[in-house]
Amino acid sequence: MDVLKAFLLNIGLYSIFPLYLSTISSNLRAATLYCYAALILVVGVLAGAIYSFPLTEGLNISGGNLAYGAFMMTVVMLIITERKVSTFVNILRMVITVKLFIFLGFNFLSWVLESEFVLNPFQVNPEVFQVALWVLMLGGSLIVFEVLLLLFIFLQVRKFTTNPSTLAFIYTLVFFLVLCLDGVLFPLFAFGVSPDLVHIIFGNVLGKAVIAGCFSVPMLLFYLVFRRNFSRFIETPLAMSQLVGASRSKLLDTLHHYEARDQKFQQDNEKLSVLAEKDALTNLANRRKFDQILTAEWSRCVQEGRPLTVVIGDIDFFKQYNDTYGHAQGDACLKSVAEHWGKIANRAPDLAARVGGEEFALIFPNTHPDQILPKLQRFLLELQEQAIPHSASTVASHITLSMGVAGYVPQKGASQADLYAMADQRLYVAKRGGRNQFVAE
Ligand code: GH3
Ligand code: MG
Ligand code: MG
Repeated sequence: MDVLKAFLLNIGLYSIFPLYLSTISSNLRAATLYCYAALILVVGVLAGAIYSFPLTEGLNISGGNLAYGAFMMTVVMLIITERKVSTFVNILRMVITVKLFIFLGFNFLSWVLESEFVLNPFQVNPEVFQVALWVLMLGGSLIVFEVLLLLFIFLQVRKFTTNPSTLAFIYTLVFFLVLCLDGVLFPLFAFGVSPDLVHIIFGNVLGKAVIAGCFSVPMLLFYLVFRRNFSRFIETPLAMSQLVGASRSKLLDTLHHYEARDQKFQQDNEKLSVLAEKDALTNLANRRKFDQILTAEWSRCVQEGRPLTVVIGDIDFFKQYNDTYGHAQGDACLKSVAEHWGKIANRAPDLAARVGGEEFALIFPNTHPDQILPKLQRFLLELQEQAIPHSASTVASHITLSMGVAGYVPQKGASQADLYAMADQRLYVAKRGGRNQFVAE
């Protein structure tokens, strides 16, 4: 076997894997192609340091250059199969990460090989792994620039023709030229302008041209075998602007959309929870809220050994009121009674609620019944002063209420329902006893 054959075999070896990985139809395709490209970057640095093919007298092609060609070929396959402008961003991230990995990993390896910390049975020269950060950075920057250039030209050319064969040919030519451009740029940046520069560039470009020419064959094969993928790439609308402006503004739009939605959700939730706790007609707490607070305050008072007092009030002869004045007037009456009722529970932990049609209730935590009786007395007086006319009532000429009061220090094992039932019983005692009064014992 001669040098050329070994060289071509190396090209073949590098090409088989990305060609195979491109056949995968799931998400794994992109992931494995990225992995392969990253692997090639690492291999390239090593191969560049340890071997080269002396193809002709003045033409040495290093293992590193070969890997570089394979990397660029894989990138083109990624761009075509992924059909996303963001592929560039992924490659950018990947290149930065891998170059950093190489810098740290290789220099570490070089250092441990030189040290006495490890055994080196094959006497590997530590210099193989000595890499300068600036060389890595330069190589990485050029790769990123060239990928961007490839993507840009690919998208521009698509505007002029959509014929897959023509595009496959032009893309392969662009691939060839961009690789040759690397042959010019790398020495230019690495060595600066010097008398030898033209000579170095010439040798370099020649090497890159050979590599690009060789990788153009699997490249063309790729366009041919993956005709369907390539056609889909040609049809997919892609624009370079997606890389900067559009993606950012789209991101912000999405962000604002979600923010606004969250805010609305929160407002709706607040409204709903208020609605769920309030009685719509009177704005007092509803039965649900009353039950909830009674349960909570009951357990708190059990724990703290403090008294809890409950009052239940019921409008007297309200059926007759409705019958006499109409349902609408009945509602208005309920509202105005509720206003006075609400004022009885004027401390923070107290609660005033409408618990039924014309039934109201009060909760007084940490309170003995005696402490609220004057308030109830005042309430009855207020109703008397307001004097909502009730001609059908047999106890007064105005709207009146009867109330039952119950309060004690709740004991463990008992239930708040007992307290409520006691207040309810007393309410009926008040009713039977003539109405327009409260009963507390
Ligand atoms: P008592 O003095 O024994 O309490 O007699 P009452 O007529 O007040 O009691 P009853 O339970 O017989 O009647 C209650 C009435 O309250 C019946 C119903 O029409 C009225 N009512 C219940 N809810 C509402 C409401 O939301 N609006 C109006 N306008 N009336 C209501
Ligand atoms: Mg009633
Ligand atoms: Mg009633």
